[in-house]
Amino acid sequence: MSHGMSRPVVFVIDDNGAVVRTLRDHLSRRFGEDFRVIGQSSVTAGLSVLRDLAASGEPVALLIAGHQLSDMPGVDFLARAHELHPLAKRVLLVERDYSAQSPVVQAMTLGQADYHISMPWMLEQDLYRVVSEFLAEWANGQEAEFELFRVIGRRSDPGTHELRDLLTRFNVPFRFVEADSEQGRRLLESQGLDGSRAPVLIRHDGYTVVDPVAAQIVTAIGASASHEVENCDVVIVGAGPAGLTAAVYAASEGLQTVVLEESVSGGQAGSSPMIRNYPGFPHGISGHELTRRTCEQAWMFGAHLVFSQPVAGLGSPRGDHVVQLTDGHQIRARAVIIATGIAWRRLGVPRLEALVGSGVFYGSAGSEAAAMEGRDVFVVGAGNSAGQAALHLARYARQVTMLVRSGSLVRSMSDYLIRQIEATANIAVRLRADVIDAHGTEHLEALTVRDRTSGGCERVSAAALFVLIGGEPRTQWLPDTIQREQGYIMTGQDVVRDGAHPSRWPLDRAPLPLETSVPGVFAAGDVRYRSIKRVASAVGDGATVIRLLHEYLTTVVLEETAAGP
Ligand SMILES: Cc1cc2nc3c(=O)[nH]c(=O)nc-3n(C[C@H](O)[C@H](O)[C@H](O)COP(=O)(O)OP(=O)(O)OC[C@H]3O[C@@H](n4cnc5c(N)ncnc54)[C@H](O)[C@@H]3O)c2cc1C
Repeated sequence: MSHGMSRPVVFVIDDNGAVVRTLRDHLSRRFGEDFRVIGQSSVTAGLSVLRDLAASGEPVALLIAGHQLSDMPGVDFLARAHELHPLAKRVLLVERDYSAQSPVVQAMTLGQADYHISMPWMLEQDLYRVVSEFLAEWANGQEAEFELFRVIGRRSDPGTHELRDLLTRFNVPFRFVEADSEQGRRLLESQGLDGSRAPVLIRHDGYTVVDPVAAQIVTAIGASASHEVENCDVVIVGAGPAGLTAAVYAASEGLQTVVLEESVSGGQAGSSPMIRNYPGFPHGISGHELTRRTCEQAWMFGAHLVFSQPVAGLGSPRGDHVVQLTDGHQIRARAVIIATGIAWRRLGVPRLEALVGSGVFYGSAGSEAAAMEGRDVFVVGAGNSAGQAALHLARYARQVTMLVRSGSLVRSMSDYLIRQIEATANIAVRLRADVIDAHGTEHLEALTVRDRTSGGCERVSAAALFVLIGGEPRTQWLPDTIQREQGYIMTGQDVVRDGAHPSRWPLDRAPLPLETSVPGVFAAGDVRYRSIKRVASAVGDGATVIRLLHEYLTTVVLEETAAGP
């Protein structure tokens, strides 16, 4: 790894000089080629070193601080140091104490540290493994050194936003260049373009697409946008956590599996900057990273994943199932899993809708957050997603204001998030507030916010608005035979088995759990009636549904065939 002139710094501070020396020696031995490890045992001297590094523009990757320094608590030191080096990851050095009183529990809950290291560390290898992970996370947030793509466009143009979002979600290193900058004009000229049509995508090998549609982007990245398969065992519709997990299990258990996804893999989870409650990741994991890994795993087991391929219909003639694609093609499958999740609800303010992608963003703060540096931004919503987005944005923005319709966050948001928000100085929460209008032509400039108690309206400057207000299940494309309640798909015991409705269950046997009102068609994840709306539950559904699908294919279908019509 080369970082221009100087190696990025790993900074260690603790009162105990022996701890600092040992840690510095261990880390230098392992990471010294790429990182400069600096150790300090005095707060004053430590802050002075960090100030000098900031002044000379030297990057700091990790700030590792003992949890109790003589002059101040470790978290306070981390806060001061982080002001100087906002991109550094903060690590608290704590005694081995797995009780709820350990200082790391509160520090993580309040977002005062990103990671921890327990002392004494038993094996050097353990230390190397965790520090490698922290450094990899830090490196992820840096400008890519190798640019697979360059995007030339105008930041306020919705097409440019869509393109950058897609590349971010595919985890593709790219650099954005303003079309009207000198460099942008030069790059366009080098491709014989005048910039009248943007955005332009240039791959490292020179392959160039002007104003690309999603399928062109997917293909340029090297993923598949065409299905090539006419028959298979199972079609999975949707590549969020539920669909991807179902694909891992289906393919690994020998089923010929096709996944059809309207956009890119990851679903809603893919747009979540940090998921803290997914088991196995004590410091949290980005939803994007989690789903990217699952996607790769499904592919390694042999699932055929097709992106940018919306499914438009489903028919079930004579026990088989036929999935209709929007391009007119069909795929026949022995079973189908619907994992299409939910779409974010819209605010329904026309001028806001016109600015979507140009300062107004639905359901995601991931790819735009860094661009909010020093700006005033707003988040509408009161659920966990809104809370997480606000916290993520607060790392970059000058001020984040949450606009909440109800009088309190308590009923809609997890307690740990509420506490983190209260502890974050640049987040304000405005309760009983509605966004009723937006201002700006090219991009969002201001909002009109109404106070629901007094009825008074106020115009506030806003660089961006992130809307996270829940959603509608994505089931409009399904036939009437699939029973639904408020759009959510009924499965298992919830399926109504009598009555004259076209969607009643047609067989004597009861539907299997997760089976819909059409035998052999299953539903998994958020789209299911009474689903939990968590990544882990979607993953659980995805794993469970394959076991049920085997039961359907091996026992139920045989019995039904033997019994005849
Ligand atoms: C910002 C944010 C933060 C969140 N944070 C957390 C958290 O911290 N912890 C947690 O547990 N949960 C969190 N959630 C909720 C979690 O992401 C969802 O519960 C989870 O993603 C549901 O997974 P799913 O596979 O059922 O559906 P989704 O993730 O919604 O995936 C559905 C997929 O189906 C595709 N699709 C839809 N219609 C079609 C069609 N007709 N044809 C083809 N494809 C289609 C969609 O494009 C999408 O990719 C968060 C959600 C968001 C948005």
